[in-house]
Amino acid sequence: MTPPAGPATGIVGRGNDDGARLFRQWFAQLGEAADADRPSAYVFVMGSLGELMRTFDLPVVFPEINSLQTAVRRVAHEYLNVAEDYGYSPDICGYVKADVAAQLRGGQLPMGRIPKPAIAVYTNACNTYVKWAEIWERMYGIPVFTLDVPGTRADGTQTWPCDPDFEHDRRYVEAQLRELIPLLEKVSGVRFDVDRLREAMGHANTMGRAWKRVLELNASRPAVFNALTDGTIYLGVANGFRGAPEGAAYFTDLVEEMAYKSAHGIGTPTDERWRLLFVGVPCYPIFRRFSEMFTELGGTFVGSTYLNFASGGANLGYEYDLARPVESLAEGVLIGVRDAMDNMFHQTPVLLGMLDQLGADGIVYHPIKSCRTVSTGLADSRRALLAARDVPSLFIESDMMDRRVVSEAQLKNRIDAFFEGLVSRRALGGAARPPAQA
Ligand code: SF4
Repeated sequence: MTPPAGPATGIVGRGNDDGARLFRQWFAQLGEAADADRPSAYVFVMGSLGELMRTFDLPVVFPEINSLQTAVRRVAHEYLNVAEDYGYSPDICGYVKADVAAQLRGGQLPMGRIPKPAIAVYTNACNTYVKWAEIWERMYGIPVFTLDVPGTRADGTQTWPCDPDFEHDRRYVEAQLRELIPLLEKVSGVRFDVDRLREAMGHANTMGRAWKRVLELNASRPAVFNALTDGTIYLGVANGFRGAPEGAAYFTDLVEEMAYKSAHGIGTPTDERWRLLFVGVPCYPIFRRFSEMFTELGGTFVGSTYLNFASGGANLGYEYDLARPVESLAEGVLIGVRDAMDNMFHQTPVLLGMLDQLGADGIVYHPIKSCRTVSTGLADSRRALLAARDVPSLFIESDMMDRRVVSEAQLKNRIDAFFEGLVSRRALGGAARPPAQA
């Protein structure tokens, strides 16, 4: 639909433009830090603690985001080859190998140069994080800090604030954060200032509140953004600018854009006939084509588990209590990282909720060769989902980095057949979903 004329028209598309601008700005700052040999913190998307790192003036480097960018820019194979020639096995996480190659190339990436780490901080959300950080520890002799976040023991057993079990877990995380703070003081040379932390947490609150609202607004018909493509841009900002005023302002604007689109019936460029959910990590080596295989047939991704786990659980919109910053930081990290893990390991309830909330017609499961954390068990997860709900689903495999295991023709074949199934099912009166409410 053509947007109505008027002063608000410039709103549409702003999130993608501003996201690209912020991304360039972020990399320019990393390049300056690299040139000046300033200390940086290497962190991961599931529990980055970006708000805490800012308190110590530490630029944050997300190796996962750097690696996926090499795939989006179609040069991942060059990086994978360098790491494999160096001795890394073809079947380990492609993100790790691209990062190893980038380190061997002096931090050089297609988007610019990244600084060396002064510290690596990671959670237990992915077991690869542990071994990955050990590589930097050996390369640079830096301290690495593991934040052990208690995960969900079984579906539906999560505890929440005020429950004694939750309080035990929260105190366990808080004790670790209190050990991390002096370590960050040491590597950065900056004294901990609780008021700076409060300020960064306030920006993270604004971002989290807005991120949750943006995801909710995709219940609109047509969907106001594509969770696979547009969503990946929003994710980049959510990670790179967590705790920063620019991130808070970006997401405030994004809510305005999505609310405007929803109110005016403006969707994505896709002629939306099917509303889909995506499970897993996108196929970045052919990212645009992968998305087109769905959009050309009228499929729009209205939601994904990726937007939840790769934002470190920010989708929940948890807001810190600024009156007790460190205690509340522990609470938010526990709730967020636990939710990120739930979106990988206990995703059936999440998907059932999304099916209803977003009015989805089908689910696409996309396990990938080189990320076992996200992919292991997806076949069982699909079976559990189908036992709970009669909903069309597609199971396709490829990779998020390695184009050698991506077969475009095979993917297309399976995707086309899935859409034929959707058409037949609708013709037979199945999979009729109630209209979603914006
Ligand atoms: S194994 Fe998967 S979740 Fe873990 S670092 Fe690699 S891509 Fe990320």
